[in-house]
Amino acid sequence: MSDSSPLAVRVITLGCAKNLVDAEVMCGSLAVNGFVLTTDPELADITLVNTCSFISDARKEAEEAIKAALAWKAGGPTRKVLVSGCLPQRDPQECARLYPAVDLFLGLDDVPVIHSKLAALYSEPQKPALPSAALPSYLYNHETPRICVTPEPYAYIKISEGCNHRCAFCAIPGIRGKLRSREQDSILAECEQLLAQGVKEINFVAQDSTSYGKERGDSLLALLRRCEELPGDFWLRLLYTHPLHVNEELFELMAHGKHLVPYLDMPLQHISDHILSDMRRGMSSAQTRALLQMLREKYPQITLRSTFMVGFPGETEQDFQELLAFIKDIRFERMGAFVYSPEKGTPALQLPNKPVKSSIAKKRHHILLKEQQRISLENNKRLSGQVMRILIEGASNLDEFYGRSVMDAPEVDQLIYFTEPEEDCIQGYDFVNVRIRSCTPYHLRGKLLREKK
Ligand code: SF4
Repeated sequence: MSDSSPLAVRVITLGCAKNLVDAEVMCGSLAVNGFVLTTDPELADITLVNTCSFISDARKEAEEAIKAALAWKAGGPTRKVLVSGCLPQRDPQECARLYPAVDLFLGLDDVPVIHSKLAALYSEPQKPALPSAALPSYLYNHETPRICVTPEPYAYIKISEGCNHRCAFCAIPGIRGKLRSREQDSILAECEQLLAQGVKEINFVAQDSTSYGKERGDSLLALLRRCEELPGDFWLRLLYTHPLHVNEELFELMAHGKHLVPYLDMPLQHISDHILSDMRRGMSSAQTRALLQMLREKYPQITLRSTFMVGFPGETEQDFQELLAFIKDIRFERMGAFVYSPEKGTPALQLPNKPVKSSIAKKRHHILLKEQQRISLENNKRLSGQVMRILIEGASNLDEFYGRSVMDAPEVDQLIYFTEPEEDCIQGYDFVNVRIRSCTPYHLRGKLLREKK
């Protein structure tokens, strides 16, 4: 590494889309401050591991990535390893104890200044200070340098950060801090920037997107209505809503919007009354059922994605059977599930309830996913012969492409694979129509229809 050549940074980012946006902002500030980015470990001088820490599985994944980066570091005398994200933000002391060979730990408020922290690492002899464990307050805006690393047709926009809820199982408020929302003008400007770069799907993300602007009298609906006025043919997708804050006005906009797609990502976590109450979700079982009944009756075109947790302290077999029956009844188009992870600093640890044996929790998790697999296959079979509008995302091999429908969010939902009738039939197209021919529980296959988009 000679003094003249810029330092090359390899970025590995884990966890959720909000953490990915942080990594993209760090890439932006590095790139505009004289560093180069590489995905090649042989060319890299520095490896940055951007971690997640909200449940134990995420910490295991972070540990493996940090250990792999430290093994890479051992392969070059001048190589450096940086660790950022929720792990060092949540417990910097513990990180320093576990990974003494890491050269620099960064907190969430260090995201915009990673370049100066890195420069100091090379210029100042003493070991850099650990990030402050104080709750972060940083939130980027449309003027912040940012390099999107998602596949071309889609991108994420973080509309707010932090969360003012206090769900009993959740460590996020203690890591990401209080709710803080971006200005509408800044979000609209970023939408225009991304659309000008050719992005065809914008995904709004936050810890709870439906709390957007609540801390200062603004509202998500006002923001979405302005986005609906934007010119062009693109999809706008809202992720991470909270059942307490969704309403019919939102569903109306989703069901009949020009850009906003009819897709509701709304983690419900459970359906048993006493579990919802101990989880401090603020919604009763009856309220949840009434909301979903109205959704299904009045807005059947809205795809429903939800997430559930099994093994929460005090969950009985009867509670689990109630949840299973609820899943069978509602038949969510898209569903994820987690096993409860006891998290330091969360109210759930103080609950007197009997913890659920891990083997039982894992068994319940398996049963829930198996049931969803069955539902997903039945739903997909019903799509056979239908024509779906697909946003092309890439090619899986020479003559097969893949993409997603409005029913599928990036990275978490299913893909639609399709072949084209003739060579170069889809050149330059972002959206195409595909007739569905076959399916599995988790993806569809079809044939491209020749007519225009
Ligand atoms: S809404 Fe609840 S689960 Fe979601 S980030 Fe906030 S506290 Fe955590």
